[in-house]
Amino acid sequence: MRAIVDRLREKHELAAEEYRALLTTRNPRDADYLISQARELAQRQFGKGIFLRGLIELTNVCRNDCLYCGIRRSNCNVSRYTLSSKQVLDCCETGYSIGFRTFVLQGGEWGEDRSDWIAGLISEMRHRWPDCAITLSLGEHSRETYALWRDAGADRYLLRHETHNRQLYSLLHPSVMSHAHRLQCLDWLKELGYQVGTGIMVGAPFQTIGSIVEDIVYLVDFKPHMIGLGPFIPHHDTPLGRFPAGSVELTARLYAILRLALPQALIPSTTAMASLASGGRLRGILAGANVVMPNLSPADTRQDYALYDNKASYGTESAQGVRLLAEELATIGYHIDWSRGDSPSLSRPNL
Ligand code: SAH
Repeated sequence: MRAIVDRLREKHELAAEEYRALLTTRNPRDADYLISQARELAQRQFGKGIFLRGLIELTNVCRNDCLYCGIRRSNCNVSRYTLSSKQVLDCCETGYSIGFRTFVLQGGEWGEDRSDWIAGLISEMRHRWPDCAITLSLGEHSRETYALWRDAGADRYLLRHETHNRQLYSLLHPSVMSHAHRLQCLDWLKELGYQVGTGIMVGAPFQTIGSIVEDIVYLVDFKPHMIGLGPFIPHHDTPLGRFPAGSVELTARLYAILRLALPQALIPSTTAMASLASGGRLRGILAGANVVMPNLSPADTRQDYALYDNKASYGTESAQGVRLLAEELATIGYHIDWSRGDSPSLSRPNL
């Protein structure tokens, strides 16, 4: 098994069966070796600095009906909100004064009729904070809309592919959503010059080790700048609300495999890791993750952006809690890196 890990570290690619072996090994010494090799590689690439992204949850209004997601359209127990431009800009101002240099606008998916409003917001953010990166995570849109937002000043886009297995995709999404379109969106985003992030929920209902292997093969081929991976966590008001949560352990193992496969990738230790287990976020960092995305949303809307049950959004998950976060990172010898944290694979950051 060690030989497989060494080859992944050196060649950045394995055969499908070898990924499977790494995901399923029950030998703790082999698993530890995988994790420690990924950690060392991350430290060689990025030192012990962790990049921060300030997450602004723009809206929980969504036209989609993903079967796992708490803000799906059919969930009528959600109290719906959309932040005003002023609220978003106030969040950025607070974040900027704390030291954030990346803002992530995330939200449910709107129709294209609201694209101009978002473009205006992006332009204003670009104008007021020219030294900051603007990341969007607003779901699937037309190529024209992605181009509009890119021209307005957005730098990065997060769109998890959720699964590369078409059959599994159709079990997790309503029939009107298409696996092919999601992958098409990712190709468009790359063509338009965004730094692109994609990924999956680990331990999603009906997911198999085989489908995770397919995801790894896709990611290694697509070479995203950022990789978003978190454990699935059920939301009680969704059709998949009775399925068990995914595991921090398997998610950390995937961070490690993907760190070794894509040494330059920006990999957040996600909120779902922190929500599922205390110390979950640190385990992600120790397995090769190098980004944390604290919540910068207005405090009174955070509970309404419940993608899953018991989602963490205060304390060290909160932008206002960065001092606590810094203390938590210090317990494992890491610190906050306050720079913009662009992908090192870009020769010229896109200022
Ligand atoms: N609507 C946008 C962004 C918001 S959802 C989009 O679809 O891209 C952001 C991510 O949250 C999703 O990609 C999904 O992987 C994750 N998510 C949603 N529901 C979840 C759940 N129940 N458990 C864990 N992660 C979840």
